[in-house]
Amino acid sequence: MDKFTQNYVDSFMAELVAKNPGEVEFHQAVREVVESVAPYVTENPYLMDLKILERMVEPERVILFRVPWTDDRGEIHINKGYRVQMNSAIGPYKGGIRFHSSVNLSILKFLAFEQTFKNSLTTLPMGGGKGGSDFSPRGKSDAEVMRFCQSFMTELQRHIGPDTDVPAGDIGVGGREIGFMFGQYKRLRDEFTGTLTGKGLGWGGSLIRPEATGYGVCYFAQNMLATQGKSFEGQTVLISGSGNVAQYAAQKATQLGGKVVSFSDSDGSIYDPEGIDAEKLAYVMELKNVRRGRIKEYVTKYPDAQYLEGQRPWNIPCDIALPCATQNEINKENAEALVKNGCYCVCEGANMPSTPEAIEVFQAAKLLYSPGKASNAGGVATSGLEMTQNSMRLKWTREEVDEQLHRIMNDIHDACIKYGTEEDGYINYVKGANIAGFIKVANAMVDQGLV
Ligand code: NDP
Repeated sequence: MDKFTQNYVDSFMAELVAKNPGEVEFHQAVREVVESVAPYVTENPYLMDLKILERMVEPERVILFRVPWTDDRGEIHINKGYRVQMNSAIGPYKGGIRFHSSVNLSILKFLAFEQTFKNSLTTLPMGGGKGGSDFSPRGKSDAEVMRFCQSFMTELQRHIGPDTDVPAGDIGVGGREIGFMFGQYKRLRDEFTGTLTGKGLGWGGSLIRPEATGYGVCYFAQNMLATQGKSFEGQTVLISGSGNVAQYAAQKATQLGGKVVSFSDSDGSIYDPEGIDAEKLAYVMELKNVRRGRIKEYVTKYPDAQYLEGQRPWNIPCDIALPCATQNEINKENAEALVKNGCYCVCEGANMPSTPEAIEVFQAAKLLYSPGKASNAGGVATSGLEMTQNSMRLKWTREEVDEQLHRIMNDIHDACIKYGTEEDGYINYVKGANIAGFIKVANAMVDQGLV
Protein backbone atom coordinates (compact mmCIF):
# COMPACT_ATOMS: atom_id res chain seq x y z
CA MET A 1 0.00 0.00 0.00
CA ASP A 2 1.45 3.44 -0.94
CA LYS A 3 1.94 6.17 1.67
CA PHE A 4 -1.06 8.25 0.58
CA THR A 5 -3.38 5.24 0.83
CA GLN A 6 -1.94 4.22 4.20
CA ASN A 7 -2.55 7.77 5.52
CA TYR A 8 -6.09 7.60 4.18
CA VAL A 9 -6.69 4.30 6.06
CA ASP A 10 -5.13 5.64 9.27
CA SER A 11 -7.12 8.86 9.34
CA PHE A 12 -10.34 7.06 8.32
CA MET A 13 -9.94 4.54 11.16
CA ALA A 14 -8.98 7.22 13.71
CA GLU A 15 -12.18 9.11 12.91
CA LEU A 16 -14.29 5.93 13.00
CA VAL A 17 -12.93 4.93 16.42
CA ALA A 18 -13.47 8.46 17.79
CA LYS A 19 -17.06 8.54 16.50
CA ASN A 20 -17.92 5.00 17.69
CA PRO A 21 -16.06 4.59 20.99
CA GLY A 22 -15.81 1.12 22.52
CA GLU A 23 -17.33 -0.69 19.53
CA VAL A 24 -14.35 -3.00 19.11
CA GLU A 25 -15.98 -5.65 16.90
CA PHE A 26 -17.31 -2.92 14.60
CA HIS A 27 -13.85 -1.31 14.39
CA GLN A 28 -12.35 -4.73 13.55
CA ALA A 29 -14.83 -5.46 10.75
CA VAL A 30 -14.48 -1.98 9.23
CA ARG A 31 -10.68 -2.02 9.35
CA GLU A 32 -10.56 -5.28 7.41
CA VAL A 33 -12.76 -3.86 4.65
CA VAL A 34 -11.11 -0.43 4.54
CA GLU A 35 -7.62 -1.92 4.28
CA SER A 36 -8.78 -4.00 1.29
CA VAL A 37 -10.72 -1.35 -0.59
CA ALA A 38 -8.58 1.75 0.16
CA PRO A 39 -6.32 1.27 -2.90
CA TYR A 40 -9.44 1.11 -5.13
CA VAL A 41 -10.93 4.18 -3.43
CA THR A 42 -7.78 6.29 -3.74
CA GLU A 43 -7.44 5.28 -7.40
CA ASN A 44 -11.01 6.53 -7.93
CA PRO A 45 -10.93 9.87 -6.06
CA TYR A 46 -14.58 10.68 -6.81
CA LEU A 47 -15.40 7.97 -4.24
CA MET A 48 -13.40 9.98 -1.70
CA ASP A 49 -15.09 13.25 -2.70
CA LEU A 50 -18.52 11.66 -2.38
CA LYS A 51 -17.52 10.19 1.03
CA ILE A 52 -18.83 6.78 0.01
CA LEU A 53 -16.90 4.84 2.68
CA GLU A 54 -17.80 7.41 5.36
CA ARG A 55 -21.46 6.92 4.46
CA MET A 56 -21.15 3.12 4.38
CA VAL A 57 -19.95 2.93 8.00
CA GLU A 58 -22.87 5.01 9.31
CA PRO A 59 -26.03 2.88 9.55
CA GLU A 60 -28.99 4.35 7.68
CA ARG A 61 -31.02 3.69 10.81
CA VAL A 62 -30.59 1.99 14.21
CA ILE A 63 -33.68 0.95 16.12
CA LEU A 64 -33.31 0.23 19.84
CA PHE A 65 -36.22 -0.93 21.90
CA ARG A 66 -37.41 -2.47 25.17
CA VAL A 67 -38.53 -6.12 25.15
CA PRO A 68 -40.54 -6.95 28.30
CA TRP A 69 -41.67 -10.54 28.88
CA THR A 70 -42.81 -12.83 31.68
CA ASP A 71 -41.22 -16.17 32.59
CA ASP A 72 -43.12 -19.32 33.57
CA ARG A 73 -43.09 -18.32 37.23
CA GLY A 74 -44.63 -14.95 36.48
CA GLU A 75 -41.43 -12.96 36.97
CA ILE A 76 -40.97 -10.00 34.62
CA HIS A 77 -37.76 -9.62 32.56
CA ILE A 78 -36.59 -6.76 30.38
CA ASN A 79 -34.22 -7.30 27.43
CA LYS A 80 -32.81 -4.97 24.82
CA GLY A 81 -34.02 -5.29 21.21
CA TYR A 82 -32.12 -3.96 18.19
CA ARG A 83 -32.33 -3.67 14.42
CA VAL A 84 -29.44 -2.10 12.53
CA GLN A 85 -30.57 -1.05 9.03
CA MET A 86 -27.13 -0.54 7.55
CA ASN A 87 -27.41 -0.06 3.80
CA SER A 88 -30.30 -0.27 1.34
CA ALA A 89 -28.45 0.82 -1.84
CA ILE A 90 -28.99 -2.46 -3.69
CA GLY A 91 -32.18 -3.81 -2.07
CA PRO A 92 -34.28 -4.05 1.10
CA TYR A 93 -32.29 -4.54 4.31
CA LYS A 94 -31.62 -8.24 4.78
CA GLY A 95 -29.82 -10.06 7.59
CA GLY A 96 -30.39 -12.30 10.55
CA ILE A 97 -31.60 -11.85 14.10
CA ARG A 98 -29.30 -13.05 16.90
CA PHE A 99 -30.50 -13.97 20.39
CA HIS A 100 -27.48 -14.37 22.67
CA SER A 101 -26.45 -12.88 25.99
CA SER A 102 -23.38 -11.27 24.34
CA VAL A 103 -25.42 -9.22 21.84
CA ASN A 104 -24.69 -5.48 21.89
CA LEU A 105 -24.67 -2.62 19.39
CA SER A 106 -21.02 -3.15 18.40
CA ILE A 107 -21.61 -6.80 17.48
CA LEU A 108 -24.76 -6.00 15.51
CA LYS A 109 -23.10 -3.11 13.66
CA PHE A 110 -20.18 -5.38 12.70
CA LEU A 111 -22.59 -8.04 11.49
CA ALA A 112 -24.76 -5.56 9.55
CA PHE A 113 -21.67 -4.02 7.94
CA GLU A 114 -20.32 -7.42 6.87
CA GLN A 115 -23.79 -8.37 5.66
CA THR A 116 -23.84 -5.45 3.22
CA PHE A 117 -20.80 -6.80 1.36
CA LYS A 118 -21.88 -10.42 1.64
CA ASN A 119 -25.30 -9.69 0.18
CA SER A 120 -23.69 -7.74 -2.64
CA LEU A 121 -21.48 -10.75 -3.42
CA THR A 122 -24.51 -13.03 -3.83
CA THR A 123 -25.52 -10.91 -6.87
CA LEU A 124 -29.10 -10.81 -5.49
CA PRO A 125 -30.88 -7.50 -4.75
CA MET A 126 -30.46 -7.36 -0.97
CA GLY A 127 -29.18 -4.57 1.28
CA GLY A 128 -27.51 -5.12 4.65
CA GLY A 129 -29.07 -5.32 8.10
CA LYS A 130 -28.84 -7.26 11.34
CA GLY A 131 -30.78 -7.37 14.59
CA GLY A 132 -31.21 -9.22 17.81
CA SER A 133 -31.40 -9.16 21.54
CA ASP A 134 -29.31 -9.92 24.61
CA PHE A 135 -31.94 -12.57 25.44
CA SER A 136 -30.60 -16.13 25.51
CA PRO A 137 -33.02 -18.97 24.62
CA ARG A 138 -30.69 -21.40 26.45
CA GLY A 139 -32.50 -23.05 29.34
CA LYS A 140 -35.84 -21.35 28.56
CA SER A 141 -39.08 -23.27 28.01
CA ASP A 142 -40.86 -23.16 24.64
CA ALA A 143 -43.57 -21.00 26.24
CA GLU A 144 -40.97 -18.50 27.51
CA VAL A 145 -39.27 -18.34 24.11
CA MET A 146 -42.67 -17.75 22.48
CA ARG A 147 -43.58 -14.91 24.84
CA PHE A 148 -40.19 -13.30 24.27
CA CYS A 149 -40.45 -13.62 20.46
CA GLN A 150 -43.97 -12.17 20.49
CA SER A 151 -42.86 -9.19 22.57
CA PHE A 152 -39.79 -8.65 20.35
CA MET A 153 -41.89 -8.72 17.17
CA THR A 154 -44.60 -6.46 18.63
CA GLU A 155 -42.13 -3.60 18.32
CA LEU A 156 -40.01 -4.79 15.37
CA GLN A 157 -43.02 -5.30 13.06
CA ARG A 158 -43.49 -1.56 12.53
CA HIS A 159 -39.97 -1.25 11.07
CA ILE A 160 -39.88 -4.23 8.66
CA GLY A 161 -41.79 -5.53 5.64
CA PRO A 162 -41.28 -7.55 2.44
CA ASP A 163 -39.95 -4.50 0.52
CA THR A 164 -38.34 -2.76 3.51
CA ASP A 165 -36.42 -5.15 5.73
CA VAL A 166 -36.50 -8.96 5.75
CA PRO A 167 -34.91 -10.57 8.85
CA ALA A 168 -33.83 -14.22 9.14
CA GLY A 169 -32.20 -16.48 11.77
CA ASP A 170 -28.71 -16.42 13.27
CA ILE A 171 -27.22 -17.63 16.58
CA GLY A 172 -30.08 -18.55 18.92
CA VAL A 173 -32.73 -18.00 16.25
CA GLY A 174 -33.75 -21.16 14.38
CA GLY A 175 -37.01 -22.55 13.01
CA ARG A 176 -38.80 -22.37 16.37
CA GLU A 177 -38.04 -18.68 16.92
CA ILE A 178 -38.77 -17.71 13.29
CA GLY A 179 -42.15 -19.48 13.64
CA PHE A 180 -43.10 -17.55 16.77
CA MET A 181 -41.97 -14.23 15.26
CA PHE A 182 -43.73 -14.87 11.94
CA GLY A 183 -46.96 -15.77 13.77
CA GLN A 184 -46.90 -12.49 15.71
CA TYR A 185 -45.97 -10.44 12.63
CA LYS A 186 -48.86 -11.93 10.67
CA ARG A 187 -51.29 -11.35 13.52
CA LEU A 188 -50.33 -7.69 13.98
CA ARG A 189 -49.97 -6.73 10.32
CA ASP A 190 -52.73 -8.96 8.97
CA GLU A 191 -50.62 -10.02 6.00
CA PHE A 192 -49.01 -13.26 4.85
CA THR A 193 -45.83 -12.13 3.12
CA GLY A 194 -42.21 -13.19 2.91
CA THR A 195 -41.10 -10.71 5.58
CA LEU A 196 -39.06 -13.31 7.47
CA THR A 197 -36.95 -16.01 5.83
CA GLY A 198 -36.08 -19.41 7.26
CA LYS A 199 -39.81 -20.12 7.53
CA GLY A 200 -41.22 -23.65 7.93
CA LEU A 201 -41.58 -25.66 4.74
CA GLY A 202 -45.37 -25.82 5.10
CA TRP A 203 -45.80 -22.03 5.41
CA GLY A 204 -43.60 -20.23 2.91
CA GLY A 205 -40.15 -21.61 3.64
CA SER A 206 -37.74 -22.71 0.94
CA LEU A 207 -36.34 -26.18 0.57
CA ILE A 208 -32.57 -26.20 1.31
CA ARG A 209 -32.71 -22.98 3.42
CA PRO A 210 -31.89 -24.87 6.67
CA GLU A 211 -28.97 -26.59 4.93
CA ALA A 212 -27.85 -23.61 2.84
CA THR A 213 -25.17 -21.93 4.94
CA GLY A 214 -23.36 -25.16 5.81
CA TYR A 215 -23.72 -26.63 2.30
CA GLY A 216 -22.58 -23.34 0.77
CA VAL A 217 -19.47 -23.35 2.95
CA CYS A 218 -18.54 -26.78 1.58
CA TYR A 219 -19.30 -25.80 -2.03
CA PHE A 220 -17.04 -22.78 -1.58
CA ALA A 221 -14.32 -24.92 0.06
CA GLN A 222 -14.55 -27.37 -2.86
CA ASN A 223 -13.71 -24.48 -5.19
CA MET A 224 -10.82 -23.38 -2.97
CA LEU A 225 -9.44 -26.92 -2.82
CA ALA A 226 -9.80 -27.31 -6.59
CA THR A 227 -7.38 -24.38 -7.13
CA GLN A 228 -4.74 -26.75 -5.72
CA GLY A 229 -6.09 -29.86 -7.44
CA LYS A 230 -7.51 -31.14 -4.14
CA SER A 231 -10.93 -32.17 -2.80
CA PHE A 232 -12.62 -33.22 0.47
CA GLU A 233 -11.98 -36.89 -0.35
CA GLY A 234 -10.07 -38.55 2.51
CA GLN A 235 -9.38 -35.24 4.29
CA THR A 236 -9.73 -34.73 8.06
CA VAL A 237 -12.09 -31.85 8.81
CA LEU A 238 -12.39 -29.83 12.04
CA ILE A 239 -15.71 -28.11 12.68
CA SER A 240 -16.49 -25.76 15.57
CA GLY A 241 -20.00 -25.07 16.81
CA SER A 242 -22.80 -27.62 16.76
CA GLY A 243 -25.70 -25.47 15.60
CA ASN A 244 -27.31 -24.95 12.22
CA VAL A 245 -24.23 -24.04 10.21
CA ALA A 246 -21.96 -26.63 11.85
CA GLN A 247 -24.44 -29.49 11.40
CA TYR A 248 -25.00 -29.00 7.68
CA ALA A 249 -21.35 -28.22 6.98
CA ALA A 250 -20.60 -31.58 8.62
CA GLN A 251 -23.26 -33.33 6.54
CA LYS A 252 -21.99 -31.98 3.23
CA ALA A 253 -18.29 -32.42 4.08
CA THR A 254 -19.03 -36.07 4.90
CA GLN A 255 -21.04 -36.56 1.68
CA LEU A 256 -18.06 -35.16 -0.24
CA GLY A 257 -15.74 -37.77 1.27
CA GLY A 258 -14.26 -35.84 4.21
CA LYS A 259 -13.90 -37.19 7.75
CA VAL A 260 -15.36 -34.71 10.27
CA VAL A 261 -13.81 -35.23 13.71
CA SER A 262 -15.06 -32.39 15.94
CA PHE A 263 -17.96 -30.25 17.13
CA SER A 264 -18.08 -27.70 19.94
CA ASP A 265 -20.30 -25.38 21.93
CA SER A 266 -19.55 -22.60 24.37
CA ASP A 267 -18.67 -25.15 27.10
CA GLY A 268 -16.15 -27.28 25.17
CA SER A 269 -15.39 -29.50 22.18
CA ILE A 270 -15.74 -33.16 21.28
CA TYR A 271 -13.07 -35.04 19.30
CA ASP A 272 -14.06 -38.27 17.57
CA PRO A 273 -10.98 -39.65 15.76
CA GLU A 274 -13.14 -42.31 14.04
CA GLY A 275 -15.16 -39.60 12.30
CA ILE A 276 -18.71 -38.32 12.81
CA ASP A 277 -20.62 -40.32 10.21
CA ALA A 278 -24.25 -39.87 9.14
CA GLU A 279 -25.60 -41.90 12.06
CA LYS A 280 -23.59 -39.95 14.64
CA LEU A 281 -24.61 -36.67 12.99
CA ALA A 282 -28.28 -37.69 13.26
CA TYR A 283 -27.67 -38.15 17.00
CA VAL A 284 -26.10 -34.64 17.24
CA MET A 285 -29.05 -33.11 15.37
CA GLU A 286 -31.53 -34.76 17.71
CA LEU A 287 -29.44 -33.76 20.75
CA LYS A 288 -29.11 -30.09 19.73
CA ASN A 289 -32.32 -29.39 17.83
CA VAL A 290 -34.92 -31.51 19.64
CA ARG A 291 -33.58 -32.09 23.16
CA ARG A 292 -31.58 -28.82 23.16
CA GLY A 293 -28.78 -30.61 25.04
CA ARG A 294 -25.04 -29.89 25.33
CA ILE A 295 -22.37 -31.32 23.02
CA LYS A 296 -20.57 -33.06 25.90
CA GLU A 297 -23.37 -35.66 25.94
CA TYR A 298 -21.84 -37.00 22.70
CA VAL A 299 -19.10 -38.81 24.66
CA THR A 300 -21.66 -40.61 26.81
CA LYS A 301 -23.25 -41.97 23.65
CA TYR A 302 -19.91 -42.58 21.86
CA PRO A 303 -17.33 -43.34 24.58
CA ASP A 304 -14.42 -43.62 22.11
CA ALA A 305 -14.68 -39.86 21.57
CA GLN A 306 -13.09 -37.33 23.93
CA TYR A 307 -14.63 -34.25 25.56
CA LEU A 308 -12.27 -31.28 25.75
CA GLU A 309 -13.83 -29.23 28.56
CA GLY A 310 -13.55 -25.47 28.04
CA GLN A 311 -11.44 -25.93 24.88
CA ARG A 312 -11.84 -25.03 21.24
CA PRO A 313 -10.98 -27.76 18.73
CA TRP A 314 -8.04 -25.99 17.01
CA ASN A 315 -5.24 -28.09 18.55
CA ILE A 316 -6.53 -31.27 16.87
CA PRO A 317 -4.56 -32.17 13.70
CA CYS A 318 -6.57 -31.67 10.50
CA ASP A 319 -6.37 -30.85 6.79
CA ILE A 320 -9.36 -28.53 6.59
CA ALA A 321 -10.93 -26.30 9.28
CA LEU A 322 -14.49 -24.98 9.08
CA PRO A 323 -15.11 -22.58 12.00
CA CYS A 324 -18.91 -22.44 12.42
CA ALA A 325 -19.56 -21.10 15.94
CA THR A 326 -19.00 -17.38 16.53
CA GLN A 327 -16.79 -14.30 16.09
CA ASN A 328 -13.15 -14.26 17.22
CA GLU A 329 -13.06 -17.97 18.04
CA ILE A 330 -9.63 -18.45 16.36
CA ASN A 331 -6.85 -16.33 17.87
CA LYS A 332 -3.19 -16.12 16.87
CA GLU A 333 -2.15 -19.17 18.96
CA ASN A 334 -5.03 -21.24 17.58
CA ALA A 335 -4.05 -20.24 14.03
CA GLU A 336 -0.41 -21.16 14.67
CA ALA A 337 -1.49 -24.55 16.05
CA LEU A 338 -3.61 -25.21 12.96
CA VAL A 339 -0.75 -24.38 10.59
CA LYS A 340 1.77 -26.38 12.64
CA ASN A 341 -0.49 -29.45 12.62
CA GLY A 342 -0.86 -29.47 8.84
CA CYS A 343 -4.11 -27.60 8.19
CA TYR A 344 -3.95 -26.08 4.71
CA CYS A 345 -7.50 -24.76 4.22
CA VAL A 346 -9.63 -22.60 6.54
CA CYS A 347 -13.08 -21.83 5.17
CA GLU A 348 -15.24 -19.76 7.52
CA GLY A 349 -18.87 -20.67 8.22
CA ALA A 350 -19.26 -18.24 11.11
CA ASN A 351 -19.02 -14.46 10.76
CA MET A 352 -15.52 -13.11 11.56
CA PRO A 353 -14.40 -16.22 13.53
CA SER A 354 -10.69 -15.41 12.98
CA THR A 355 -9.04 -12.45 14.71
CA PRO A 356 -6.92 -10.12 12.52
CA GLU A 357 -3.78 -11.70 14.04
CA ALA A 358 -5.02 -15.19 13.10
CA ILE A 359 -5.71 -14.05 9.52
CA GLU A 360 -2.15 -12.71 9.33
CA VAL A 361 -0.85 -16.15 10.34
CA PHE A 362 -2.96 -17.89 7.68
CA GLN A 363 -1.99 -15.49 4.93
CA ALA A 364 1.72 -15.48 5.85
CA ALA A 365 1.66 -19.29 5.59
CA LYS A 366 -0.16 -18.96 2.21
CA LEU A 367 -3.03 -21.11 3.42
CA LEU A 368 -6.23 -21.32 1.48
CA TYR A 369 -8.20 -18.93 3.71
CA SER A 370 -11.68 -17.56 3.08
CA PRO A 371 -13.57 -14.98 5.18
CA GLY A 372 -17.15 -15.74 6.22
CA LYS A 373 -18.59 -12.95 4.11
CA ALA A 374 -17.65 -14.97 1.02
CA SER A 375 -17.90 -18.58 2.17
CA ASN A 376 -21.03 -18.36 4.36
CA ALA A 377 -23.04 -16.28 1.89
CA GLY A 378 -25.06 -19.36 0.86
CA GLY A 379 -27.44 -18.81 3.78
CA VAL A 380 -28.51 -15.32 2.83
CA ALA A 381 -28.43 -16.23 -0.87
CA THR A 382 -30.99 -18.97 -0.24
CA SER A 383 -32.99 -16.52 1.87
CA GLY A 384 -33.02 -14.38 -1.26
CA LEU A 385 -34.33 -17.37 -3.20
CA GLU A 386 -37.00 -17.84 -0.51
CA MET A 387 -38.05 -14.18 -1.01
CA THR A 388 -38.29 -14.74 -4.77
CA GLN A 389 -40.45 -17.84 -4.33
CA ASN A 390 -42.70 -15.97 -1.84
CA SER A 391 -43.16 -13.08 -4.29
CA MET A 392 -44.01 -15.47 -7.11
CA ARG A 393 -46.16 -17.64 -4.80
CA LEU A 394 -44.28 -20.65 -6.14
CA LYS A 395 -42.13 -23.35 -4.60
CA TRP A 396 -39.02 -24.67 -6.29
CA THR A 397 -37.79 -28.24 -5.87
CA ARG A 398 -34.87 -29.19 -3.66
CA GLU A 399 -32.73 -29.78 -6.74
CA GLU A 400 -33.56 -26.37 -8.24
CA VAL A 401 -32.65 -24.48 -5.07
CA ASP A 402 -29.50 -26.53 -4.47
CA GLU A 403 -28.39 -25.92 -8.05
CA GLN A 404 -28.88 -22.15 -7.69
CA LEU A 405 -27.03 -22.18 -4.35
CA HIS A 406 -24.17 -24.08 -5.95
CA ARG A 407 -24.02 -21.62 -8.86
CA ILE A 408 -24.02 -18.60 -6.54
CA MET A 409 -21.15 -20.04 -4.45
CA ASN A 410 -19.18 -20.70 -7.65
CA ASP A 411 -19.82 -17.12 -8.79
CA ILE A 412 -18.64 -15.70 -5.45
CA HIS A 413 -15.49 -17.81 -5.74
CA ASP A 414 -14.91 -16.46 -9.28
CA ALA A 415 -15.31 -12.89 -8.00
CA CYS A 416 -12.74 -13.54 -5.25
CA ILE A 417 -10.28 -14.84 -7.84
CA LYS A 418 -10.91 -11.85 -10.11
CA TYR A 419 -10.28 -9.21 -7.44
CA GLY A 420 -8.08 -11.12 -5.00
CA THR A 421 -5.36 -12.83 -7.03
CA GLU A 422 -1.97 -11.37 -6.12
CA GLU A 423 1.16 -11.05 -8.25
CA ASP A 424 2.61 -14.33 -7.02
CA GLY A 425 -0.65 -16.13 -7.81
CA TYR A 426 -1.81 -16.38 -4.16
CA ILE A 427 -5.56 -15.87 -3.91
CA ASN A 428 -6.27 -13.32 -1.19
CA TYR A 429 -9.93 -14.14 -0.58
CA VAL A 430 -10.28 -11.31 1.98
CA LYS A 431 -9.24 -8.70 -0.56
CA GLY A 432 -11.24 -10.32 -3.37
CA ALA A 433 -14.47 -10.53 -1.36
CA ASN A 434 -14.18 -7.02 0.03
CA ILE A 435 -13.45 -5.33 -3.29
CA ALA A 436 -16.07 -7.29 -5.26
CA GLY A 437 -18.72 -6.63 -2.60
CA PHE A 438 -17.76 -2.96 -2.28
CA ILE A 439 -17.82 -1.97 -5.95
CA LYS A 440 -21.46 -2.88 -6.52
CA VAL A 441 -22.73 -1.08 -3.41
CA ALA A 442 -20.49 1.95 -4.03
CA ASN A 443 -21.70 2.30 -7.64
CA ALA A 444 -25.33 2.12 -6.51
CA MET A 445 -24.71 4.81 -3.89
CA VAL A 446 -23.06 7.05 -6.47
CA ASP A 447 -26.02 6.62 -8.85
CA GLN A 448 -28.60 7.36 -6.13
CA GLY A 449 -27.15 10.70 -4.99
CA LEU A 450 -26.52 11.99 -1.51
CA VAL A 451 -29.03 10.05 0.59
P1 NDP B 1 -26.71 -21.65 16.20
O1 NDP B 1 -27.30 -20.88 17.31
O2 NDP B 1 -27.51 -22.66 15.49
O3 NDP B 1 -25.35 -22.35 16.69
C1 NDP B 1 -24.31 -21.61 17.22
C2 NDP B 1 -23.26 -22.57 17.72
O4 NDP B 1 -22.10 -21.83 18.10
C3 NDP B 1 -23.70 -23.33 18.95
O5 NDP B 1 -23.06 -24.58 18.97
C4 NDP B 1 -23.20 -22.43 20.07
O6 NDP B 1 -22.97 -23.09 21.30
C5 NDP B 1 -21.88 -21.96 19.50
N1 NDP B 1 -21.53 -20.68 20.09
C6 NDP B 1 -22.29 -19.55 20.11
N2 NDP B 1 -21.65 -18.58 20.77
C7 NDP B 1 -20.49 -19.11 21.18
C8 NDP B 1 -19.40 -18.60 21.90
N3 NDP B 1 -19.40 -17.33 22.35
N4 NDP B 1 -18.34 -19.44 22.12
C9 NDP B 1 -18.35 -20.71 21.65
N5 NDP B 1 -19.36 -21.25 20.97
C10 NDP B 1 -20.41 -20.46 20.73
O7 NDP B 1 -26.15 -20.53 15.17
P2 NDP B 1 -25.78 -20.69 13.63
O8 NDP B 1 -25.22 -22.05 13.38
O9 NDP B 1 -26.92 -20.20 12.84
O10 NDP B 1 -24.61 -19.59 13.49
C11 NDP B 1 -23.23 -19.91 13.68
C12 NDP B 1 -22.38 -18.83 13.02
O11 NDP B 1 -22.68 -18.77 11.61
C13 NDP B 1 -22.59 -17.40 13.53
O12 NDP B 1 -21.37 -16.69 13.45
C14 NDP B 1 -23.58 -16.82 12.53
O13 NDP B 1 -23.52 -15.41 12.48
C15 NDP B 1 -23.05 -17.45 11.26
N6 NDP B 1 -23.99 -17.49 10.14
C16 NDP B 1 -25.20 -18.13 10.26
C17 NDP B 1 -26.05 -18.19 9.17
C18 NDP B 1 -27.31 -18.97 9.21
O14 NDP B 1 -27.92 -19.14 8.13
N7 NDP B 1 -27.77 -19.48 10.33
C19 NDP B 1 -25.74 -17.51 7.91
C20 NDP B 1 -24.40 -16.95 7.86
C21 NDP B 1 -23.60 -16.92 8.96
P3 NDP B 1 -23.93 -22.78 22.57
O15 NDP B 1 -25.10 -23.68 22.37
O16 NDP B 1 -23.09 -23.13 23.73
O17 NDP B 1 -24.28 -21.31 22.53
